[in-house]
Amino acid sequence: MTRMKKILLDESEMPRQWYNLTPDLLSPLNPPLGPGGKPITPEMLAPVFPMNLIEQEVSQDRWIDIPEEIRNILVQWRPSPLVRAYELEEALGTPAKIYYKNESVSPAGSHKPNTAIAQAWYNKQFGIKRLTTETGAGQWGTALSYAGALLGLEVKVFMVRVSFDQKPFRKLMMQTWGGKCVASPSTETQAGRNILEKYPDTPGSLGIAISEAVEAAVTDPTGQTRYSLGSVLNHVMLHQTIIGLEAKKQLAKVGIKKPDIVIGCCGGGSNFAGLAFPFIYDKVNGADIQVIGAEPFSCPTLTKAPFIYDHGDVAEMTPLLPMYSLGHNFIPAPIHAGGLRYHGMAPLVSAALKDGLMEAQAIHQSECFEAGLLFSKTEGIIPAPETTHAIASAIREAKKAKEEGKEKVILFNFSGHGLMDLVGYDKYMTGQLSDYEYPESEIASNLEKLKGYPLPK
Ligand SMILES: *Cc1c(COP(=O)(O)O)cnc(C)c1O
Repeated sequence: MTRMKKILLDESEMPRQWYNLTPDLLSPLNPPLGPGGKPITPEMLAPVFPMNLIEQEVSQDRWIDIPEEIRNILVQWRPSPLVRAYELEEALGTPAKIYYKNESVSPAGSHKPNTAIAQAWYNKQFGIKRLTTETGAGQWGTALSYAGALLGLEVKVFMVRVSFDQKPFRKLMMQTWGGKCVASPSTETQAGRNILEKYPDTPGSLGIAISEAVEAAVTDPTGQTRYSLGSVLNHVMLHQTIIGLEAKKQLAKVGIKKPDIVIGCCGGGSNFAGLAFPFIYDKVNGADIQVIGAEPFSCPTLTKAPFIYDHGDVAEMTPLLPMYSLGHNFIPAPIHAGGLRYHGMAPLVSAALKDGLMEAQAIHQSECFEAGLLFSKTEGIIPAPETTHAIASAIREAKKAKEEGKEKVILFNFSGHGLMDLVGYDKYMTGQLSDYEYPESEIASNLEKLKGYPLPK
């Protein structure tokens, strides 16, 4: 009999609700704080986000219905396959059963369209015509451009200058879907013009691009533009939980009541939350599941940073968020997993770590690329550099299971493919990559600047 490699659900089995972790946290979420240290109100966010998404952002409801129109778009690639990594298991000689949720099958090649489609739909419902956003390596810009095409919204992406010049293919994907992609800093905003006047040759930064995207949204005189963020916020985590909810149904199909270990890589936290939160729900209700967030040693937010209030961006435009943070002035080393270089972490993921509902692992990029190559040569799919962190962590756990002689079930999120990131693989294969551990002293000096900020409870 042919072995069952892919566990599939049909369209009618796709989840009809998203799961919100907020009401199940052991201690209540600290609120975001505005200027003066006071909790921000929904009205204060209204120029930036549509009210229906702000309602989701602050919702205490455990289950939130996925509108049928959104489900009718998600079926362009969902439900995504759950895959048994037989070839990887054989290469490792492990008794563990390794499963991965393959989010690379989306049109943009990652999990990001799960929230891009939902956000575009809610904006459209609210009468919004145009979305702005920033993008570093380009994954979020491509996902939002795809969503804009499907929902008939104009999408404007401010792409960090250095990536705009070095990564033309992501920009071309955005343009193919009708997204407008400009290099940031641009001459289209006051923030951009100010920077260009002082530093005409600047490579740009995510902080500058965020400032430009927010300014472009709030200064539209028609009031029909809003800003969109691809990770970190509560509503983004919510939209991604469809990943874990599908995975549960798929495991049940092969008779697995619960995995022993659940793993995701962590940048802003959204793909991790998407897979893990529905299993954390079981954990809160008594199930014995180890949940691991994997991150780079060079950006050790979960493993080395303190739990504090910090801005989400370098320009200090965002409210203060309760999260593990390396300091908003953190300058990341140029490692190849661009999506994992964020200084902070989603407040919901931060709260889960604080509550002991998950643990974290830091991994060097050479171990990750080695894992990525082994995965490519066994399972066939070339992973995104971000995704290789989850693979490396799964391999560590599979080796541990071998030493212990235990037949554990390991589940990880395959957040995206690496077909646009082959330059990173080239650098690794030609010996040009080095490992970098972010020093404690640097974290301490970044955090100096945050003295006097309020502290979360
Ligand atoms: C953006 C991205 C990430 C990191 O973002 P999260 O919000 O932490 O999920 C990870 N993997 C891939 C493929 C990405 O595109």
